[in-house]
Amino acid sequence: MIKSKDKKKNDLLLGAVLLLTATVLFLGRYFFREEGRAVQIMVADQEFGSFSLSEDREILVGEGNILCISDGAAFMKWADCPDQLCVHQGKISRKGETIACLPNRVTVRVTGGTSSGTDSIAG
Ligand SMILES: [Zn+2]
Repeated sequence: MIKSKDKKKNDLLLGAVLLLTATVLFLGRYFFREEGRAVQIMVADQEFGSFSLSEDREILVGEGNILCISDGAAFMKWADCPDQLCVHQGKISRKGETIACLPNRVTVRVTGGTSSGTDSIAG
């Protein structure tokens, strides 16, 4: 009798632990997404905006550049600059990486999450 009662108590405890774990995981994912990597776009030393790398999109920056965000990376899809160096810089996804379009004075920089430990996840 006592044993089965204990077992029931353990089941309840286990259920509570699982629920707690699920909640923590859910919240963790939620916060990770909120604070995840993003790109900050600067135009002529002024902030154009910050965009999350977790949402695929195309951003028209001014009139001369189109930045594309796809699969957690950002790249300059199109530019009207003569050198096209920004387009050839390829994809950036790691914190601190930049794409610069000097003729158009556009700079795209990857900003990381808040904790330094997140860097190894994408590695
Ligand atoms: Zn360029």
